Amino acid sequence: MKLIFLGAPGAGKGTQAEKVSEYLNIPTISTGNIIREALKNGTEMGKKAKSYMDAGALVPDDVVIGIIQERLTQPDCENGFILDGFPRTIPQAEALDRMGIHIDRIIDIEVPDDTIAQRVSGRRVCAACGSSYHLDYKKPQVEGVCDRCQGALVQRKDDQPETVKERLAVYHEQTEPLKDYYAKSGKLVIVEGQERVEDTTALTIAAVKE
Ligand code: ADP
Ligand code: ZN
Repeated sequence: MKLIFLGAPGAGKGTQAEKVSEYLNIPTISTGNIIREALKNGTEMGKKAKSYMDAGALVPDDVVIGIIQERLTQPDCENGFILDGFPRTIPQAEALDRMGIHIDRIIDIEVPDDTIAQRVSGRRVCAACGSSYHLDYKKPQVEGVCDRCQGALVQRKDDQPETVKERLAVYHEQTEPLKDYYAKSGKLVIVEGQERVEDTTALTIAAVKE
């Protein structure tokens, strides 16, 4: 199964993608994580992406399209995958179409902007492995420590309030038009984000099973 998870930054698509990835036993491909990894490793691409990311802007299309093109040729993608955070613009969606990739379903997780702003401020990520946590909704077993690798949990620079505002504006302007783009294919399923993460997960799993 080949899936795209759409949604505003902080809508919880990454968390849901991870659950569905376990459920279907297919990898999640997060462009955000790949870019952060490149940044940590000090690659050219990482350096180029950093200024955009820190400002809450999108990284240029050619960069992320290149990342995805390369990633999708890895053998673990053969039986399907979840794209988390790609495409984020119409040109990216068109590039994916041109790659001849047949997507089975597009899941759009919808959450109001004010809820997002509040949620994102509580988000923490592992500095070592990138796992995502939340101060209220997804607490680690030990405060400030990653369950998976014992790494330190930190707040992303782009999760600070001013940057979040900018990211939401960018989302509405550049990513939201993808809903219409995919609605035309008849494969778009809208999932209303719920108060409790596990309730959203139940709806998301139902949406991929449909
Ligand atoms: P979130 O889903 O919370 O917005 P991500 O980790 O997916 O966070 O993305 C973080 C940042 O990485 C984005 O704000 C953007 O700068 C960059 N990025 C990730 N995916 C893309 C993409 N498909 N196109 C352009 N920039 C991207
Ligand atoms: Zn970790």
